[in-house]
Amino acid sequence: MTRRKKMVERVTGLMDKPDRIRNIGIVAHIDHGKTTLSDNLLAGAGMISEELAGRQLFMDSDEEEQARGITIDSSNVSMVHTYGDKEFLINMIDTPGHVDFGGDVTRAMRAVDGAVVVVDAVEGTMPQTETVLRQALKEGVKPVLFINKVDRLINELKVDSTEMQIRLGRVIDKVNKLIKGMNEKAYNNGWKLDAAAGTVAFGSALYNWAVSVPFMQKSGVNFQEVYDRCREEDMKTLAKKSPLAQVLLDMVVRHLPDPIDAQDRRVHIIWHGDYESGVGKAMVDCDPKGPIALMVTDISFDPHAGEVATGRLFSGTLHRGDEVYVMGTAGKSNRLQQVGIFMGPERIEVENLCAGNIAAVTGLKDAIVGSTVSSQMEMTPFESLKHYSEPVMTVAV
Ligand code: GDP
Repeated sequence: MTRRKKMVERVTGLMDKPDRIRNIGIVAHIDHGKTTLSDNLLAGAGMISEELAGRQLFMDSDEEEQARGITIDSSNVSMVHTYGDKEFLINMIDTPGHVDFGGDVTRAMRAVDGAVVVVDAVEGTMPQTETVLRQALKEGVKPVLFINKVDRLINELKVDSTEMQIRLGRVIDKVNKLIKGMNEKAYNNGWKLDAAAGTVAFGSALYNWAVSVPFMQKSGVNFQEVYDRCREEDMKTLAKKSPLAQVLLDMVVRHLPDPIDAQDRRVHIIWHGDYESGVGKAMVDCDPKGPIALMVTDISFDPHAGEVATGRLFSGTLHRGDEVYVMGTAGKSNRLQQVGIFMGPERIEVENLCAGNIAAVTGLKDAIVGSTVSSQMEMTPFESLKHYSEPVMTVAV
């Protein structure tokens, strides 16, 4: 079996176990290191490297896959991460850092349940950090914090080890203040960031290392060692002893909710229909046997397959050939042609896909970004996507 086929098996083996899924977004002010972090996570989880490097070769040797039209989509990526003795499927939606793309952050936050907020250790929180954090909290998306570019504190600002820790503490306090100001209830209910509890990690995406308090306890690496190795320009050892992908993804698995946990809370924020109805209950329970309830959060174009709608499946199971309805259109059904998910940056077709996943489907000819799609002809649509940094601005489609 090729390495790729094994990976397909691992991914598809996890997608119908919602407790093993984490749907996350990485959010940041521009230049704080989101792209560098995302790339490193994918490489660290073994989802790119050989596969991407040898992609053309592989495609040439596997006509069936080629015929299916696998595409690279840089805005949605999935990876498998081992935590303890279990594997987890991490679905990551990319969010642009520039404020003009606020609408895209809004869409991404609808699809995910958790957010890794990246803040530059030197710059600290910036206006867009605030915007993206607000957006996450409005959507009921739980944040964890990654303080990036710690190497710059040491090597450019030349702070000492104590000052480094004081500055990191200040960034945490500032983000906590923002969370408290935006949603005090969530803050008091465990969303307050706490380094000791493990909801904060520090590191350098560029040099591929990170630490968190729980990981430091496990690995024996402490702040003094971090400081010394940065000073000695020996970050390679840090990357080996405390690899970025492992520390970050451990934090994601341990502290961000799975879809079952998240939907129980989030459905009450993003949907205001009858919670006692079949579809209402099924969404709250993330029930794969319920009616299909999908919210489209992105539409892209694939040269092989045409329009691909990406969205969060809150209840039910999608199969190729299913007849579904797009709310707000004439009531004629659309037939699902391809049902897929992401594996690394590739979209792969699957036989069926259950609630809690981020789906990529073709055949939804009447859908636009923001559409509610259901197997029921009538369903209360999801709340429309609003970009909260502006007064009331519905996302243009
Ligand atoms: P984005 O706009 O948030 O996606 O930021 P990028 O990932 O493109 O990073 C912006 C710049 O910061 C690039 O020049 C990166 O090489 C640099 N950068 C990212 N992470 C680090 C880091 O940990 N340390 C240092 N010194 N530079 C970094």
